[in-house]
Amino acid sequence: MFISKDRTAIIKQLKEYLCYLKDIGIKEIPCEARVRGQGSGGNSRTGVSPVNESGDIKPTLESVKEELGNCKRCKLYRTRTNIVFGTGNPNARLMFIGEGPGEEEDLQGEPFVGRAGQLLTRIIEAMGLKRDDVYICNVVKCRPPENRAPEPDEISACRPFLEKQIDAIKPKIIVALGNHAVHSLLNTVSGITKVRGQFSYYKNNIKLMPTYHPAYLLRNEGKKKEVWEDMKKVMAELGLEVPKKEEKGLYG
Ligand code: SF4
Repeated sequence: MFISKDRTAIIKQLKEYLCYLKDIGIKEIPCEARVRGQGSGGNSRTGVSPVNESGDIKPTLESVKEELGNCKRCKLYRTRTNIVFGTGNPNARLMFIGEGPGEEEDLQGEPFVGRAGQLLTRIIEAMGLKRDDVYICNVVKCRPPENRAPEPDEISACRPFLEKQIDAIKPKIIVALGNHAVHSLLNTVSGITKVRGQFSYYKNNIKLMPTYHPAYLLRNEGKKKEVWEDMKKVMAELGLEVPKKEEKGLYG
């Protein structure tokens, strides 16, 4: 097996350092990060997840789901049928994040499958993509009763898992759907009408496009054009072909 000179030197130095630790009485090195089995984004040969920029082990969607478990970290667990974790391509370049599951999503355990979800699917397809090309999830993973807005304590209880999902996928662009997704991801209180259509940054490194939630579009047909303008900016950023002519009713 070929081993580069650099690698040999590193192994030699590591061995010397371990011998030194042993000599001064250190018998073991604590390791907080649990090495997990292979998952999406992990090294399929060694089963070890890659490390992120901070040197921490990068989560995989499987590891995030496993950590979430049968979550009871906020009161939404009491009324849910299913946890709606997220769906799509674990290596997606584009991620759509809504606010929370509705009735149909709660029953099926999948995000954006009701009427608003069907409209989101049409938007994705109008962009020349399939649902399987992107990743779709919500700020909170359990349905708020009567489809009310998620409350601040629920958003903050669920937020670590959303952050880990984003960290696992590392998309090039996030589309934040509606006020709650925008507030949560950008730490802003500005209304969606004010911020939509302009790229911002999630944690200073992932471009984020705020736009209207598809459920809002179902009640306000006239706003579809604005969302399409926002999606054209996303398409341009992803290097996708943007239709030159406006096609009325592009995503019905
Ligand atoms: S909304 Fe999130 S934090 Fe609350 S119970 Fe569901 S999974 Fe847990």
